[in-house]
This record gives sequence, structure tokens and C-alpha cells, in this order.
Amino acid sequence: MKKLAVSIVGAGPAGVAAAVELKTAKIENIAIFEKSSNFCSTIRRLYPEGKRVDTNYKGLNIAAEGVCFFETETKEKFLERIERYIKDYKIKIFYNTEINGLERLQQHYILKAGTNAVAQSYIVVIATGVFDKPKKPSYPIPDEIKDRVFFELPKELPEKEKVLIVGGGNTAAELACILSGRCDVYLSYRRKGFFRINEENLKELEKRKDQITFFLGTDIKALEPEKDAVRVIFQDGRRETFSKIFYCLGGSTPRNFLEKMGIKFKDSLPDIDEFGESNLERVFLIGDIAVKRGSILYAFNSAHKTVKRIIDKYHSLLISPY
Ligand SMILES: Cc1cc2nc3c(=O)[nH]c(=O)nc-3n(C[C@H](O)[C@H](O)[C@H](O)COP(=O)(O)OP(=O)(O)OC[C@H]3O[C@@H](n4cnc5c(N)ncnc54)[C@H](O)[C@@H]3O)c2cc1C
Repeated sequence: MKKLAVSIVGAGPAGVAAAVELKTAKIENIAIFEKSSNFCSTIRRLYPEGKRVDTNYKGLNIAAEGVCFFETETKEKFLERIERYIKDYKIKIFYNTEINGLERLQQHYILKAGTNAVAQSYIVVIATGVFDKPKKPSYPIPDEIKDRVFFELPKELPEKEKVLIVGGGNTAAELACILSGRCDVYLSYRRKGFFRINEENLKELEKRKDQITFFLGTDIKALEPEKDAVRVIFQDGRRETFSKIFYCLGGSTPRNFLEKMGIKFKDSLPDIDEFGESNLERVFLIGDIAVKRGSILYAFNSAHKTVKRIIDKYHSLLISPY
């Protein structure tokens, strides 16, 4: 587990700018955790090739206030610019690390990826943008069963029901373990074996192998409504009925992601102060996730403002050794 002064979640424009601002202020013990395999994954994914990246985006005509800036240029040139920031400021980024939990331990926050504690830090800056959403299957979900099919964990877990969990990652494994013993649990995964689950979760699954029915190497073809239940039709022709289905295919809505961490909302936006600090002391939100309508320059500027605040308010923690 890394021991950091500041952990940044998300390597988009906001997260990279926060790291640049911290490094400029000589705060070295920092790192970014990024869920995809490259920085600026939203821009790579959603901007068409050669797209013009405008400084004046949707009427948000603002000037750069901090170290990071850009001029209207192509997507490719913009990505090169961010790459230069990362290299020039020697920013440490841990890729393929999706943060989905935050726990307070005395003075620190522990950042978790599944059940793995990946870092502990005094200060957390969340810069995850708004474009994440739960992944859904390609086949349709009939309206009649929409209240029985879940893509994120509901607030109340089922009790004494026959449930199907779909997925082969840590979220699927953890949910299967949580529900085993209280429900009749089935776990369906399209591959013949698990390869994305961490060792701890594999051991937990092994312990419960008599309480969970594994459908490995199975793919679902369709879902159909049945009276007070969902009929699942598998590719191999098998049919089985469940009262609820939980898809654990990755991703989350920004709100669910923040609420799971304990961040409060007010009028459909995260309840943060003018510097981005949330109800969780020393947990800051910057970039798109902090506002109704963002832009790249807004992301850069919010990183500048937040880092300035962090340095003014929490300087002693930033230089304090572990
Ligand atoms: C099609 C399109 C065109 C646009 N054009 C412009 C334009 O011309 N000019 C402009 O100024 N703005 C434009 N925008 C808006 C701009 O892209 C956003 O305002 C900007 O990207 C916000 O930066 P961000 O860092 O807050 O979030 P993002 O760019 O969304 O970056 C968030 C990063 O966090 C990562 N992440 C998410 N969840 C996790 C997690 N749980 N753990 C670890 N990492 C995580 C993501 O993979 C991503 O890399 C456009 C947006 C779209 C969709």
C-alpha cells in the first residue's frame, strides 16, 4: 500500500492538473490512480479523431488561472500536451486501478480498489469526471422485469431469494459472498475460470463453494418476464428462473460512486465548498464531477484553486512524514 500525502483519483485533465499544481508547489509524495490503461480516457474514448478541442466550450469562456492551459487545438495535440505535463512534472500514475471505496482510518483515508487497499493518504482529490456508467448487456431488458434487474447494488440487499449474479470480477465475487447464506446464490460468468478476481476474493469464494452455484462458461442470450420472477435463457438453451439479477460488469454512475464513499449531495450536486472540499474533511472534488457543466479549462482552474486551498489549510500534513 502506498503512503502518500495526496492521492488523486482519475487521470483526466482535472487529475493531471492537480498533480502538476502540487508538484509546482514542491509537494512530491503524490500519485494518481486511473482506472483505464491510459491518461485522459474520456477524451480518448468520446472525442472523434481530429476533433477540435475548444477553449471556449459551450459558452464557458474562461481564462486559465493556474499552471495548466491549452489553446484551441486537435484532440491529438491536446493529448500530447497532457503527456508532456505528465513527463515534465514526473507524475506517477497507477493505471488499471479503479478506485471504488474510501475508508477513514484515524488521520488517513484508505483508497480501495475492490477489496485491495491501494493507498493511504491525508488528502484525497477526486477527479473522476461524469462519463462513467454501469456497463449493461447487449440484449434488451423487458420493461416488466426492470425492477428485478440491477446494474449497481441496491440500498437493501435481498433476503431468502434465488438470485443470479453476472460477472467475473471482484464486484461479482464480493456480492456472491455477501449474499451467500442469506440467499440462494448463482454466479454466471462467460469464461470457464476466474482470472480477474484477486486472491483474497478467490479464497472467500472457495470457502463458500457449497453455498454458491457456479455457472462458468455460460453466456446469457435473453431475459424474459415470468410471474414475480425473471426467466434467464442461456446460450446453450438452458432456462432458469430467478427472483433478482445483479449485473456486475463494471462502472458506476458518478452519484453512486460518491455516495458509496460517504459524500453528501445537495440539490443533485455534491455538497462541496467553494474550494471543492466535501463533507468528508480533506476529500476534495474537482473537474466535471464537481459541477453541473464543466470544461477542460474549468477542470484546470478547479485543480489550481483546490491545490492552493490544500496548501493553505493543510500544509503541515503535506510535509508530515509517515
Ligand atoms: C464529445 C465531447 C466533446 C467535448 N469537447 C470539449 C471541448 O472542445 N472543450 C472543452 O473544454 N471541453 C470539452 N468537453 C468536456 C471535457 O471533455 C470535460 O469537461 C473534461 O474532460 C473534464 O475533465 P475531468 O478530468 O474532470 O474528467 P474526465 O476527462 O472525464 O477524466 C476522468 C478520468 O477519471 C478516470 N476515472 C473515472 N472513474 C475512476 C475511478 N473510479 N477510479 C480511477 N479512475 C477513474 C477516467 O478513466 C478518466 O480518465 C467535451 C466533452 C465531450 C464528451
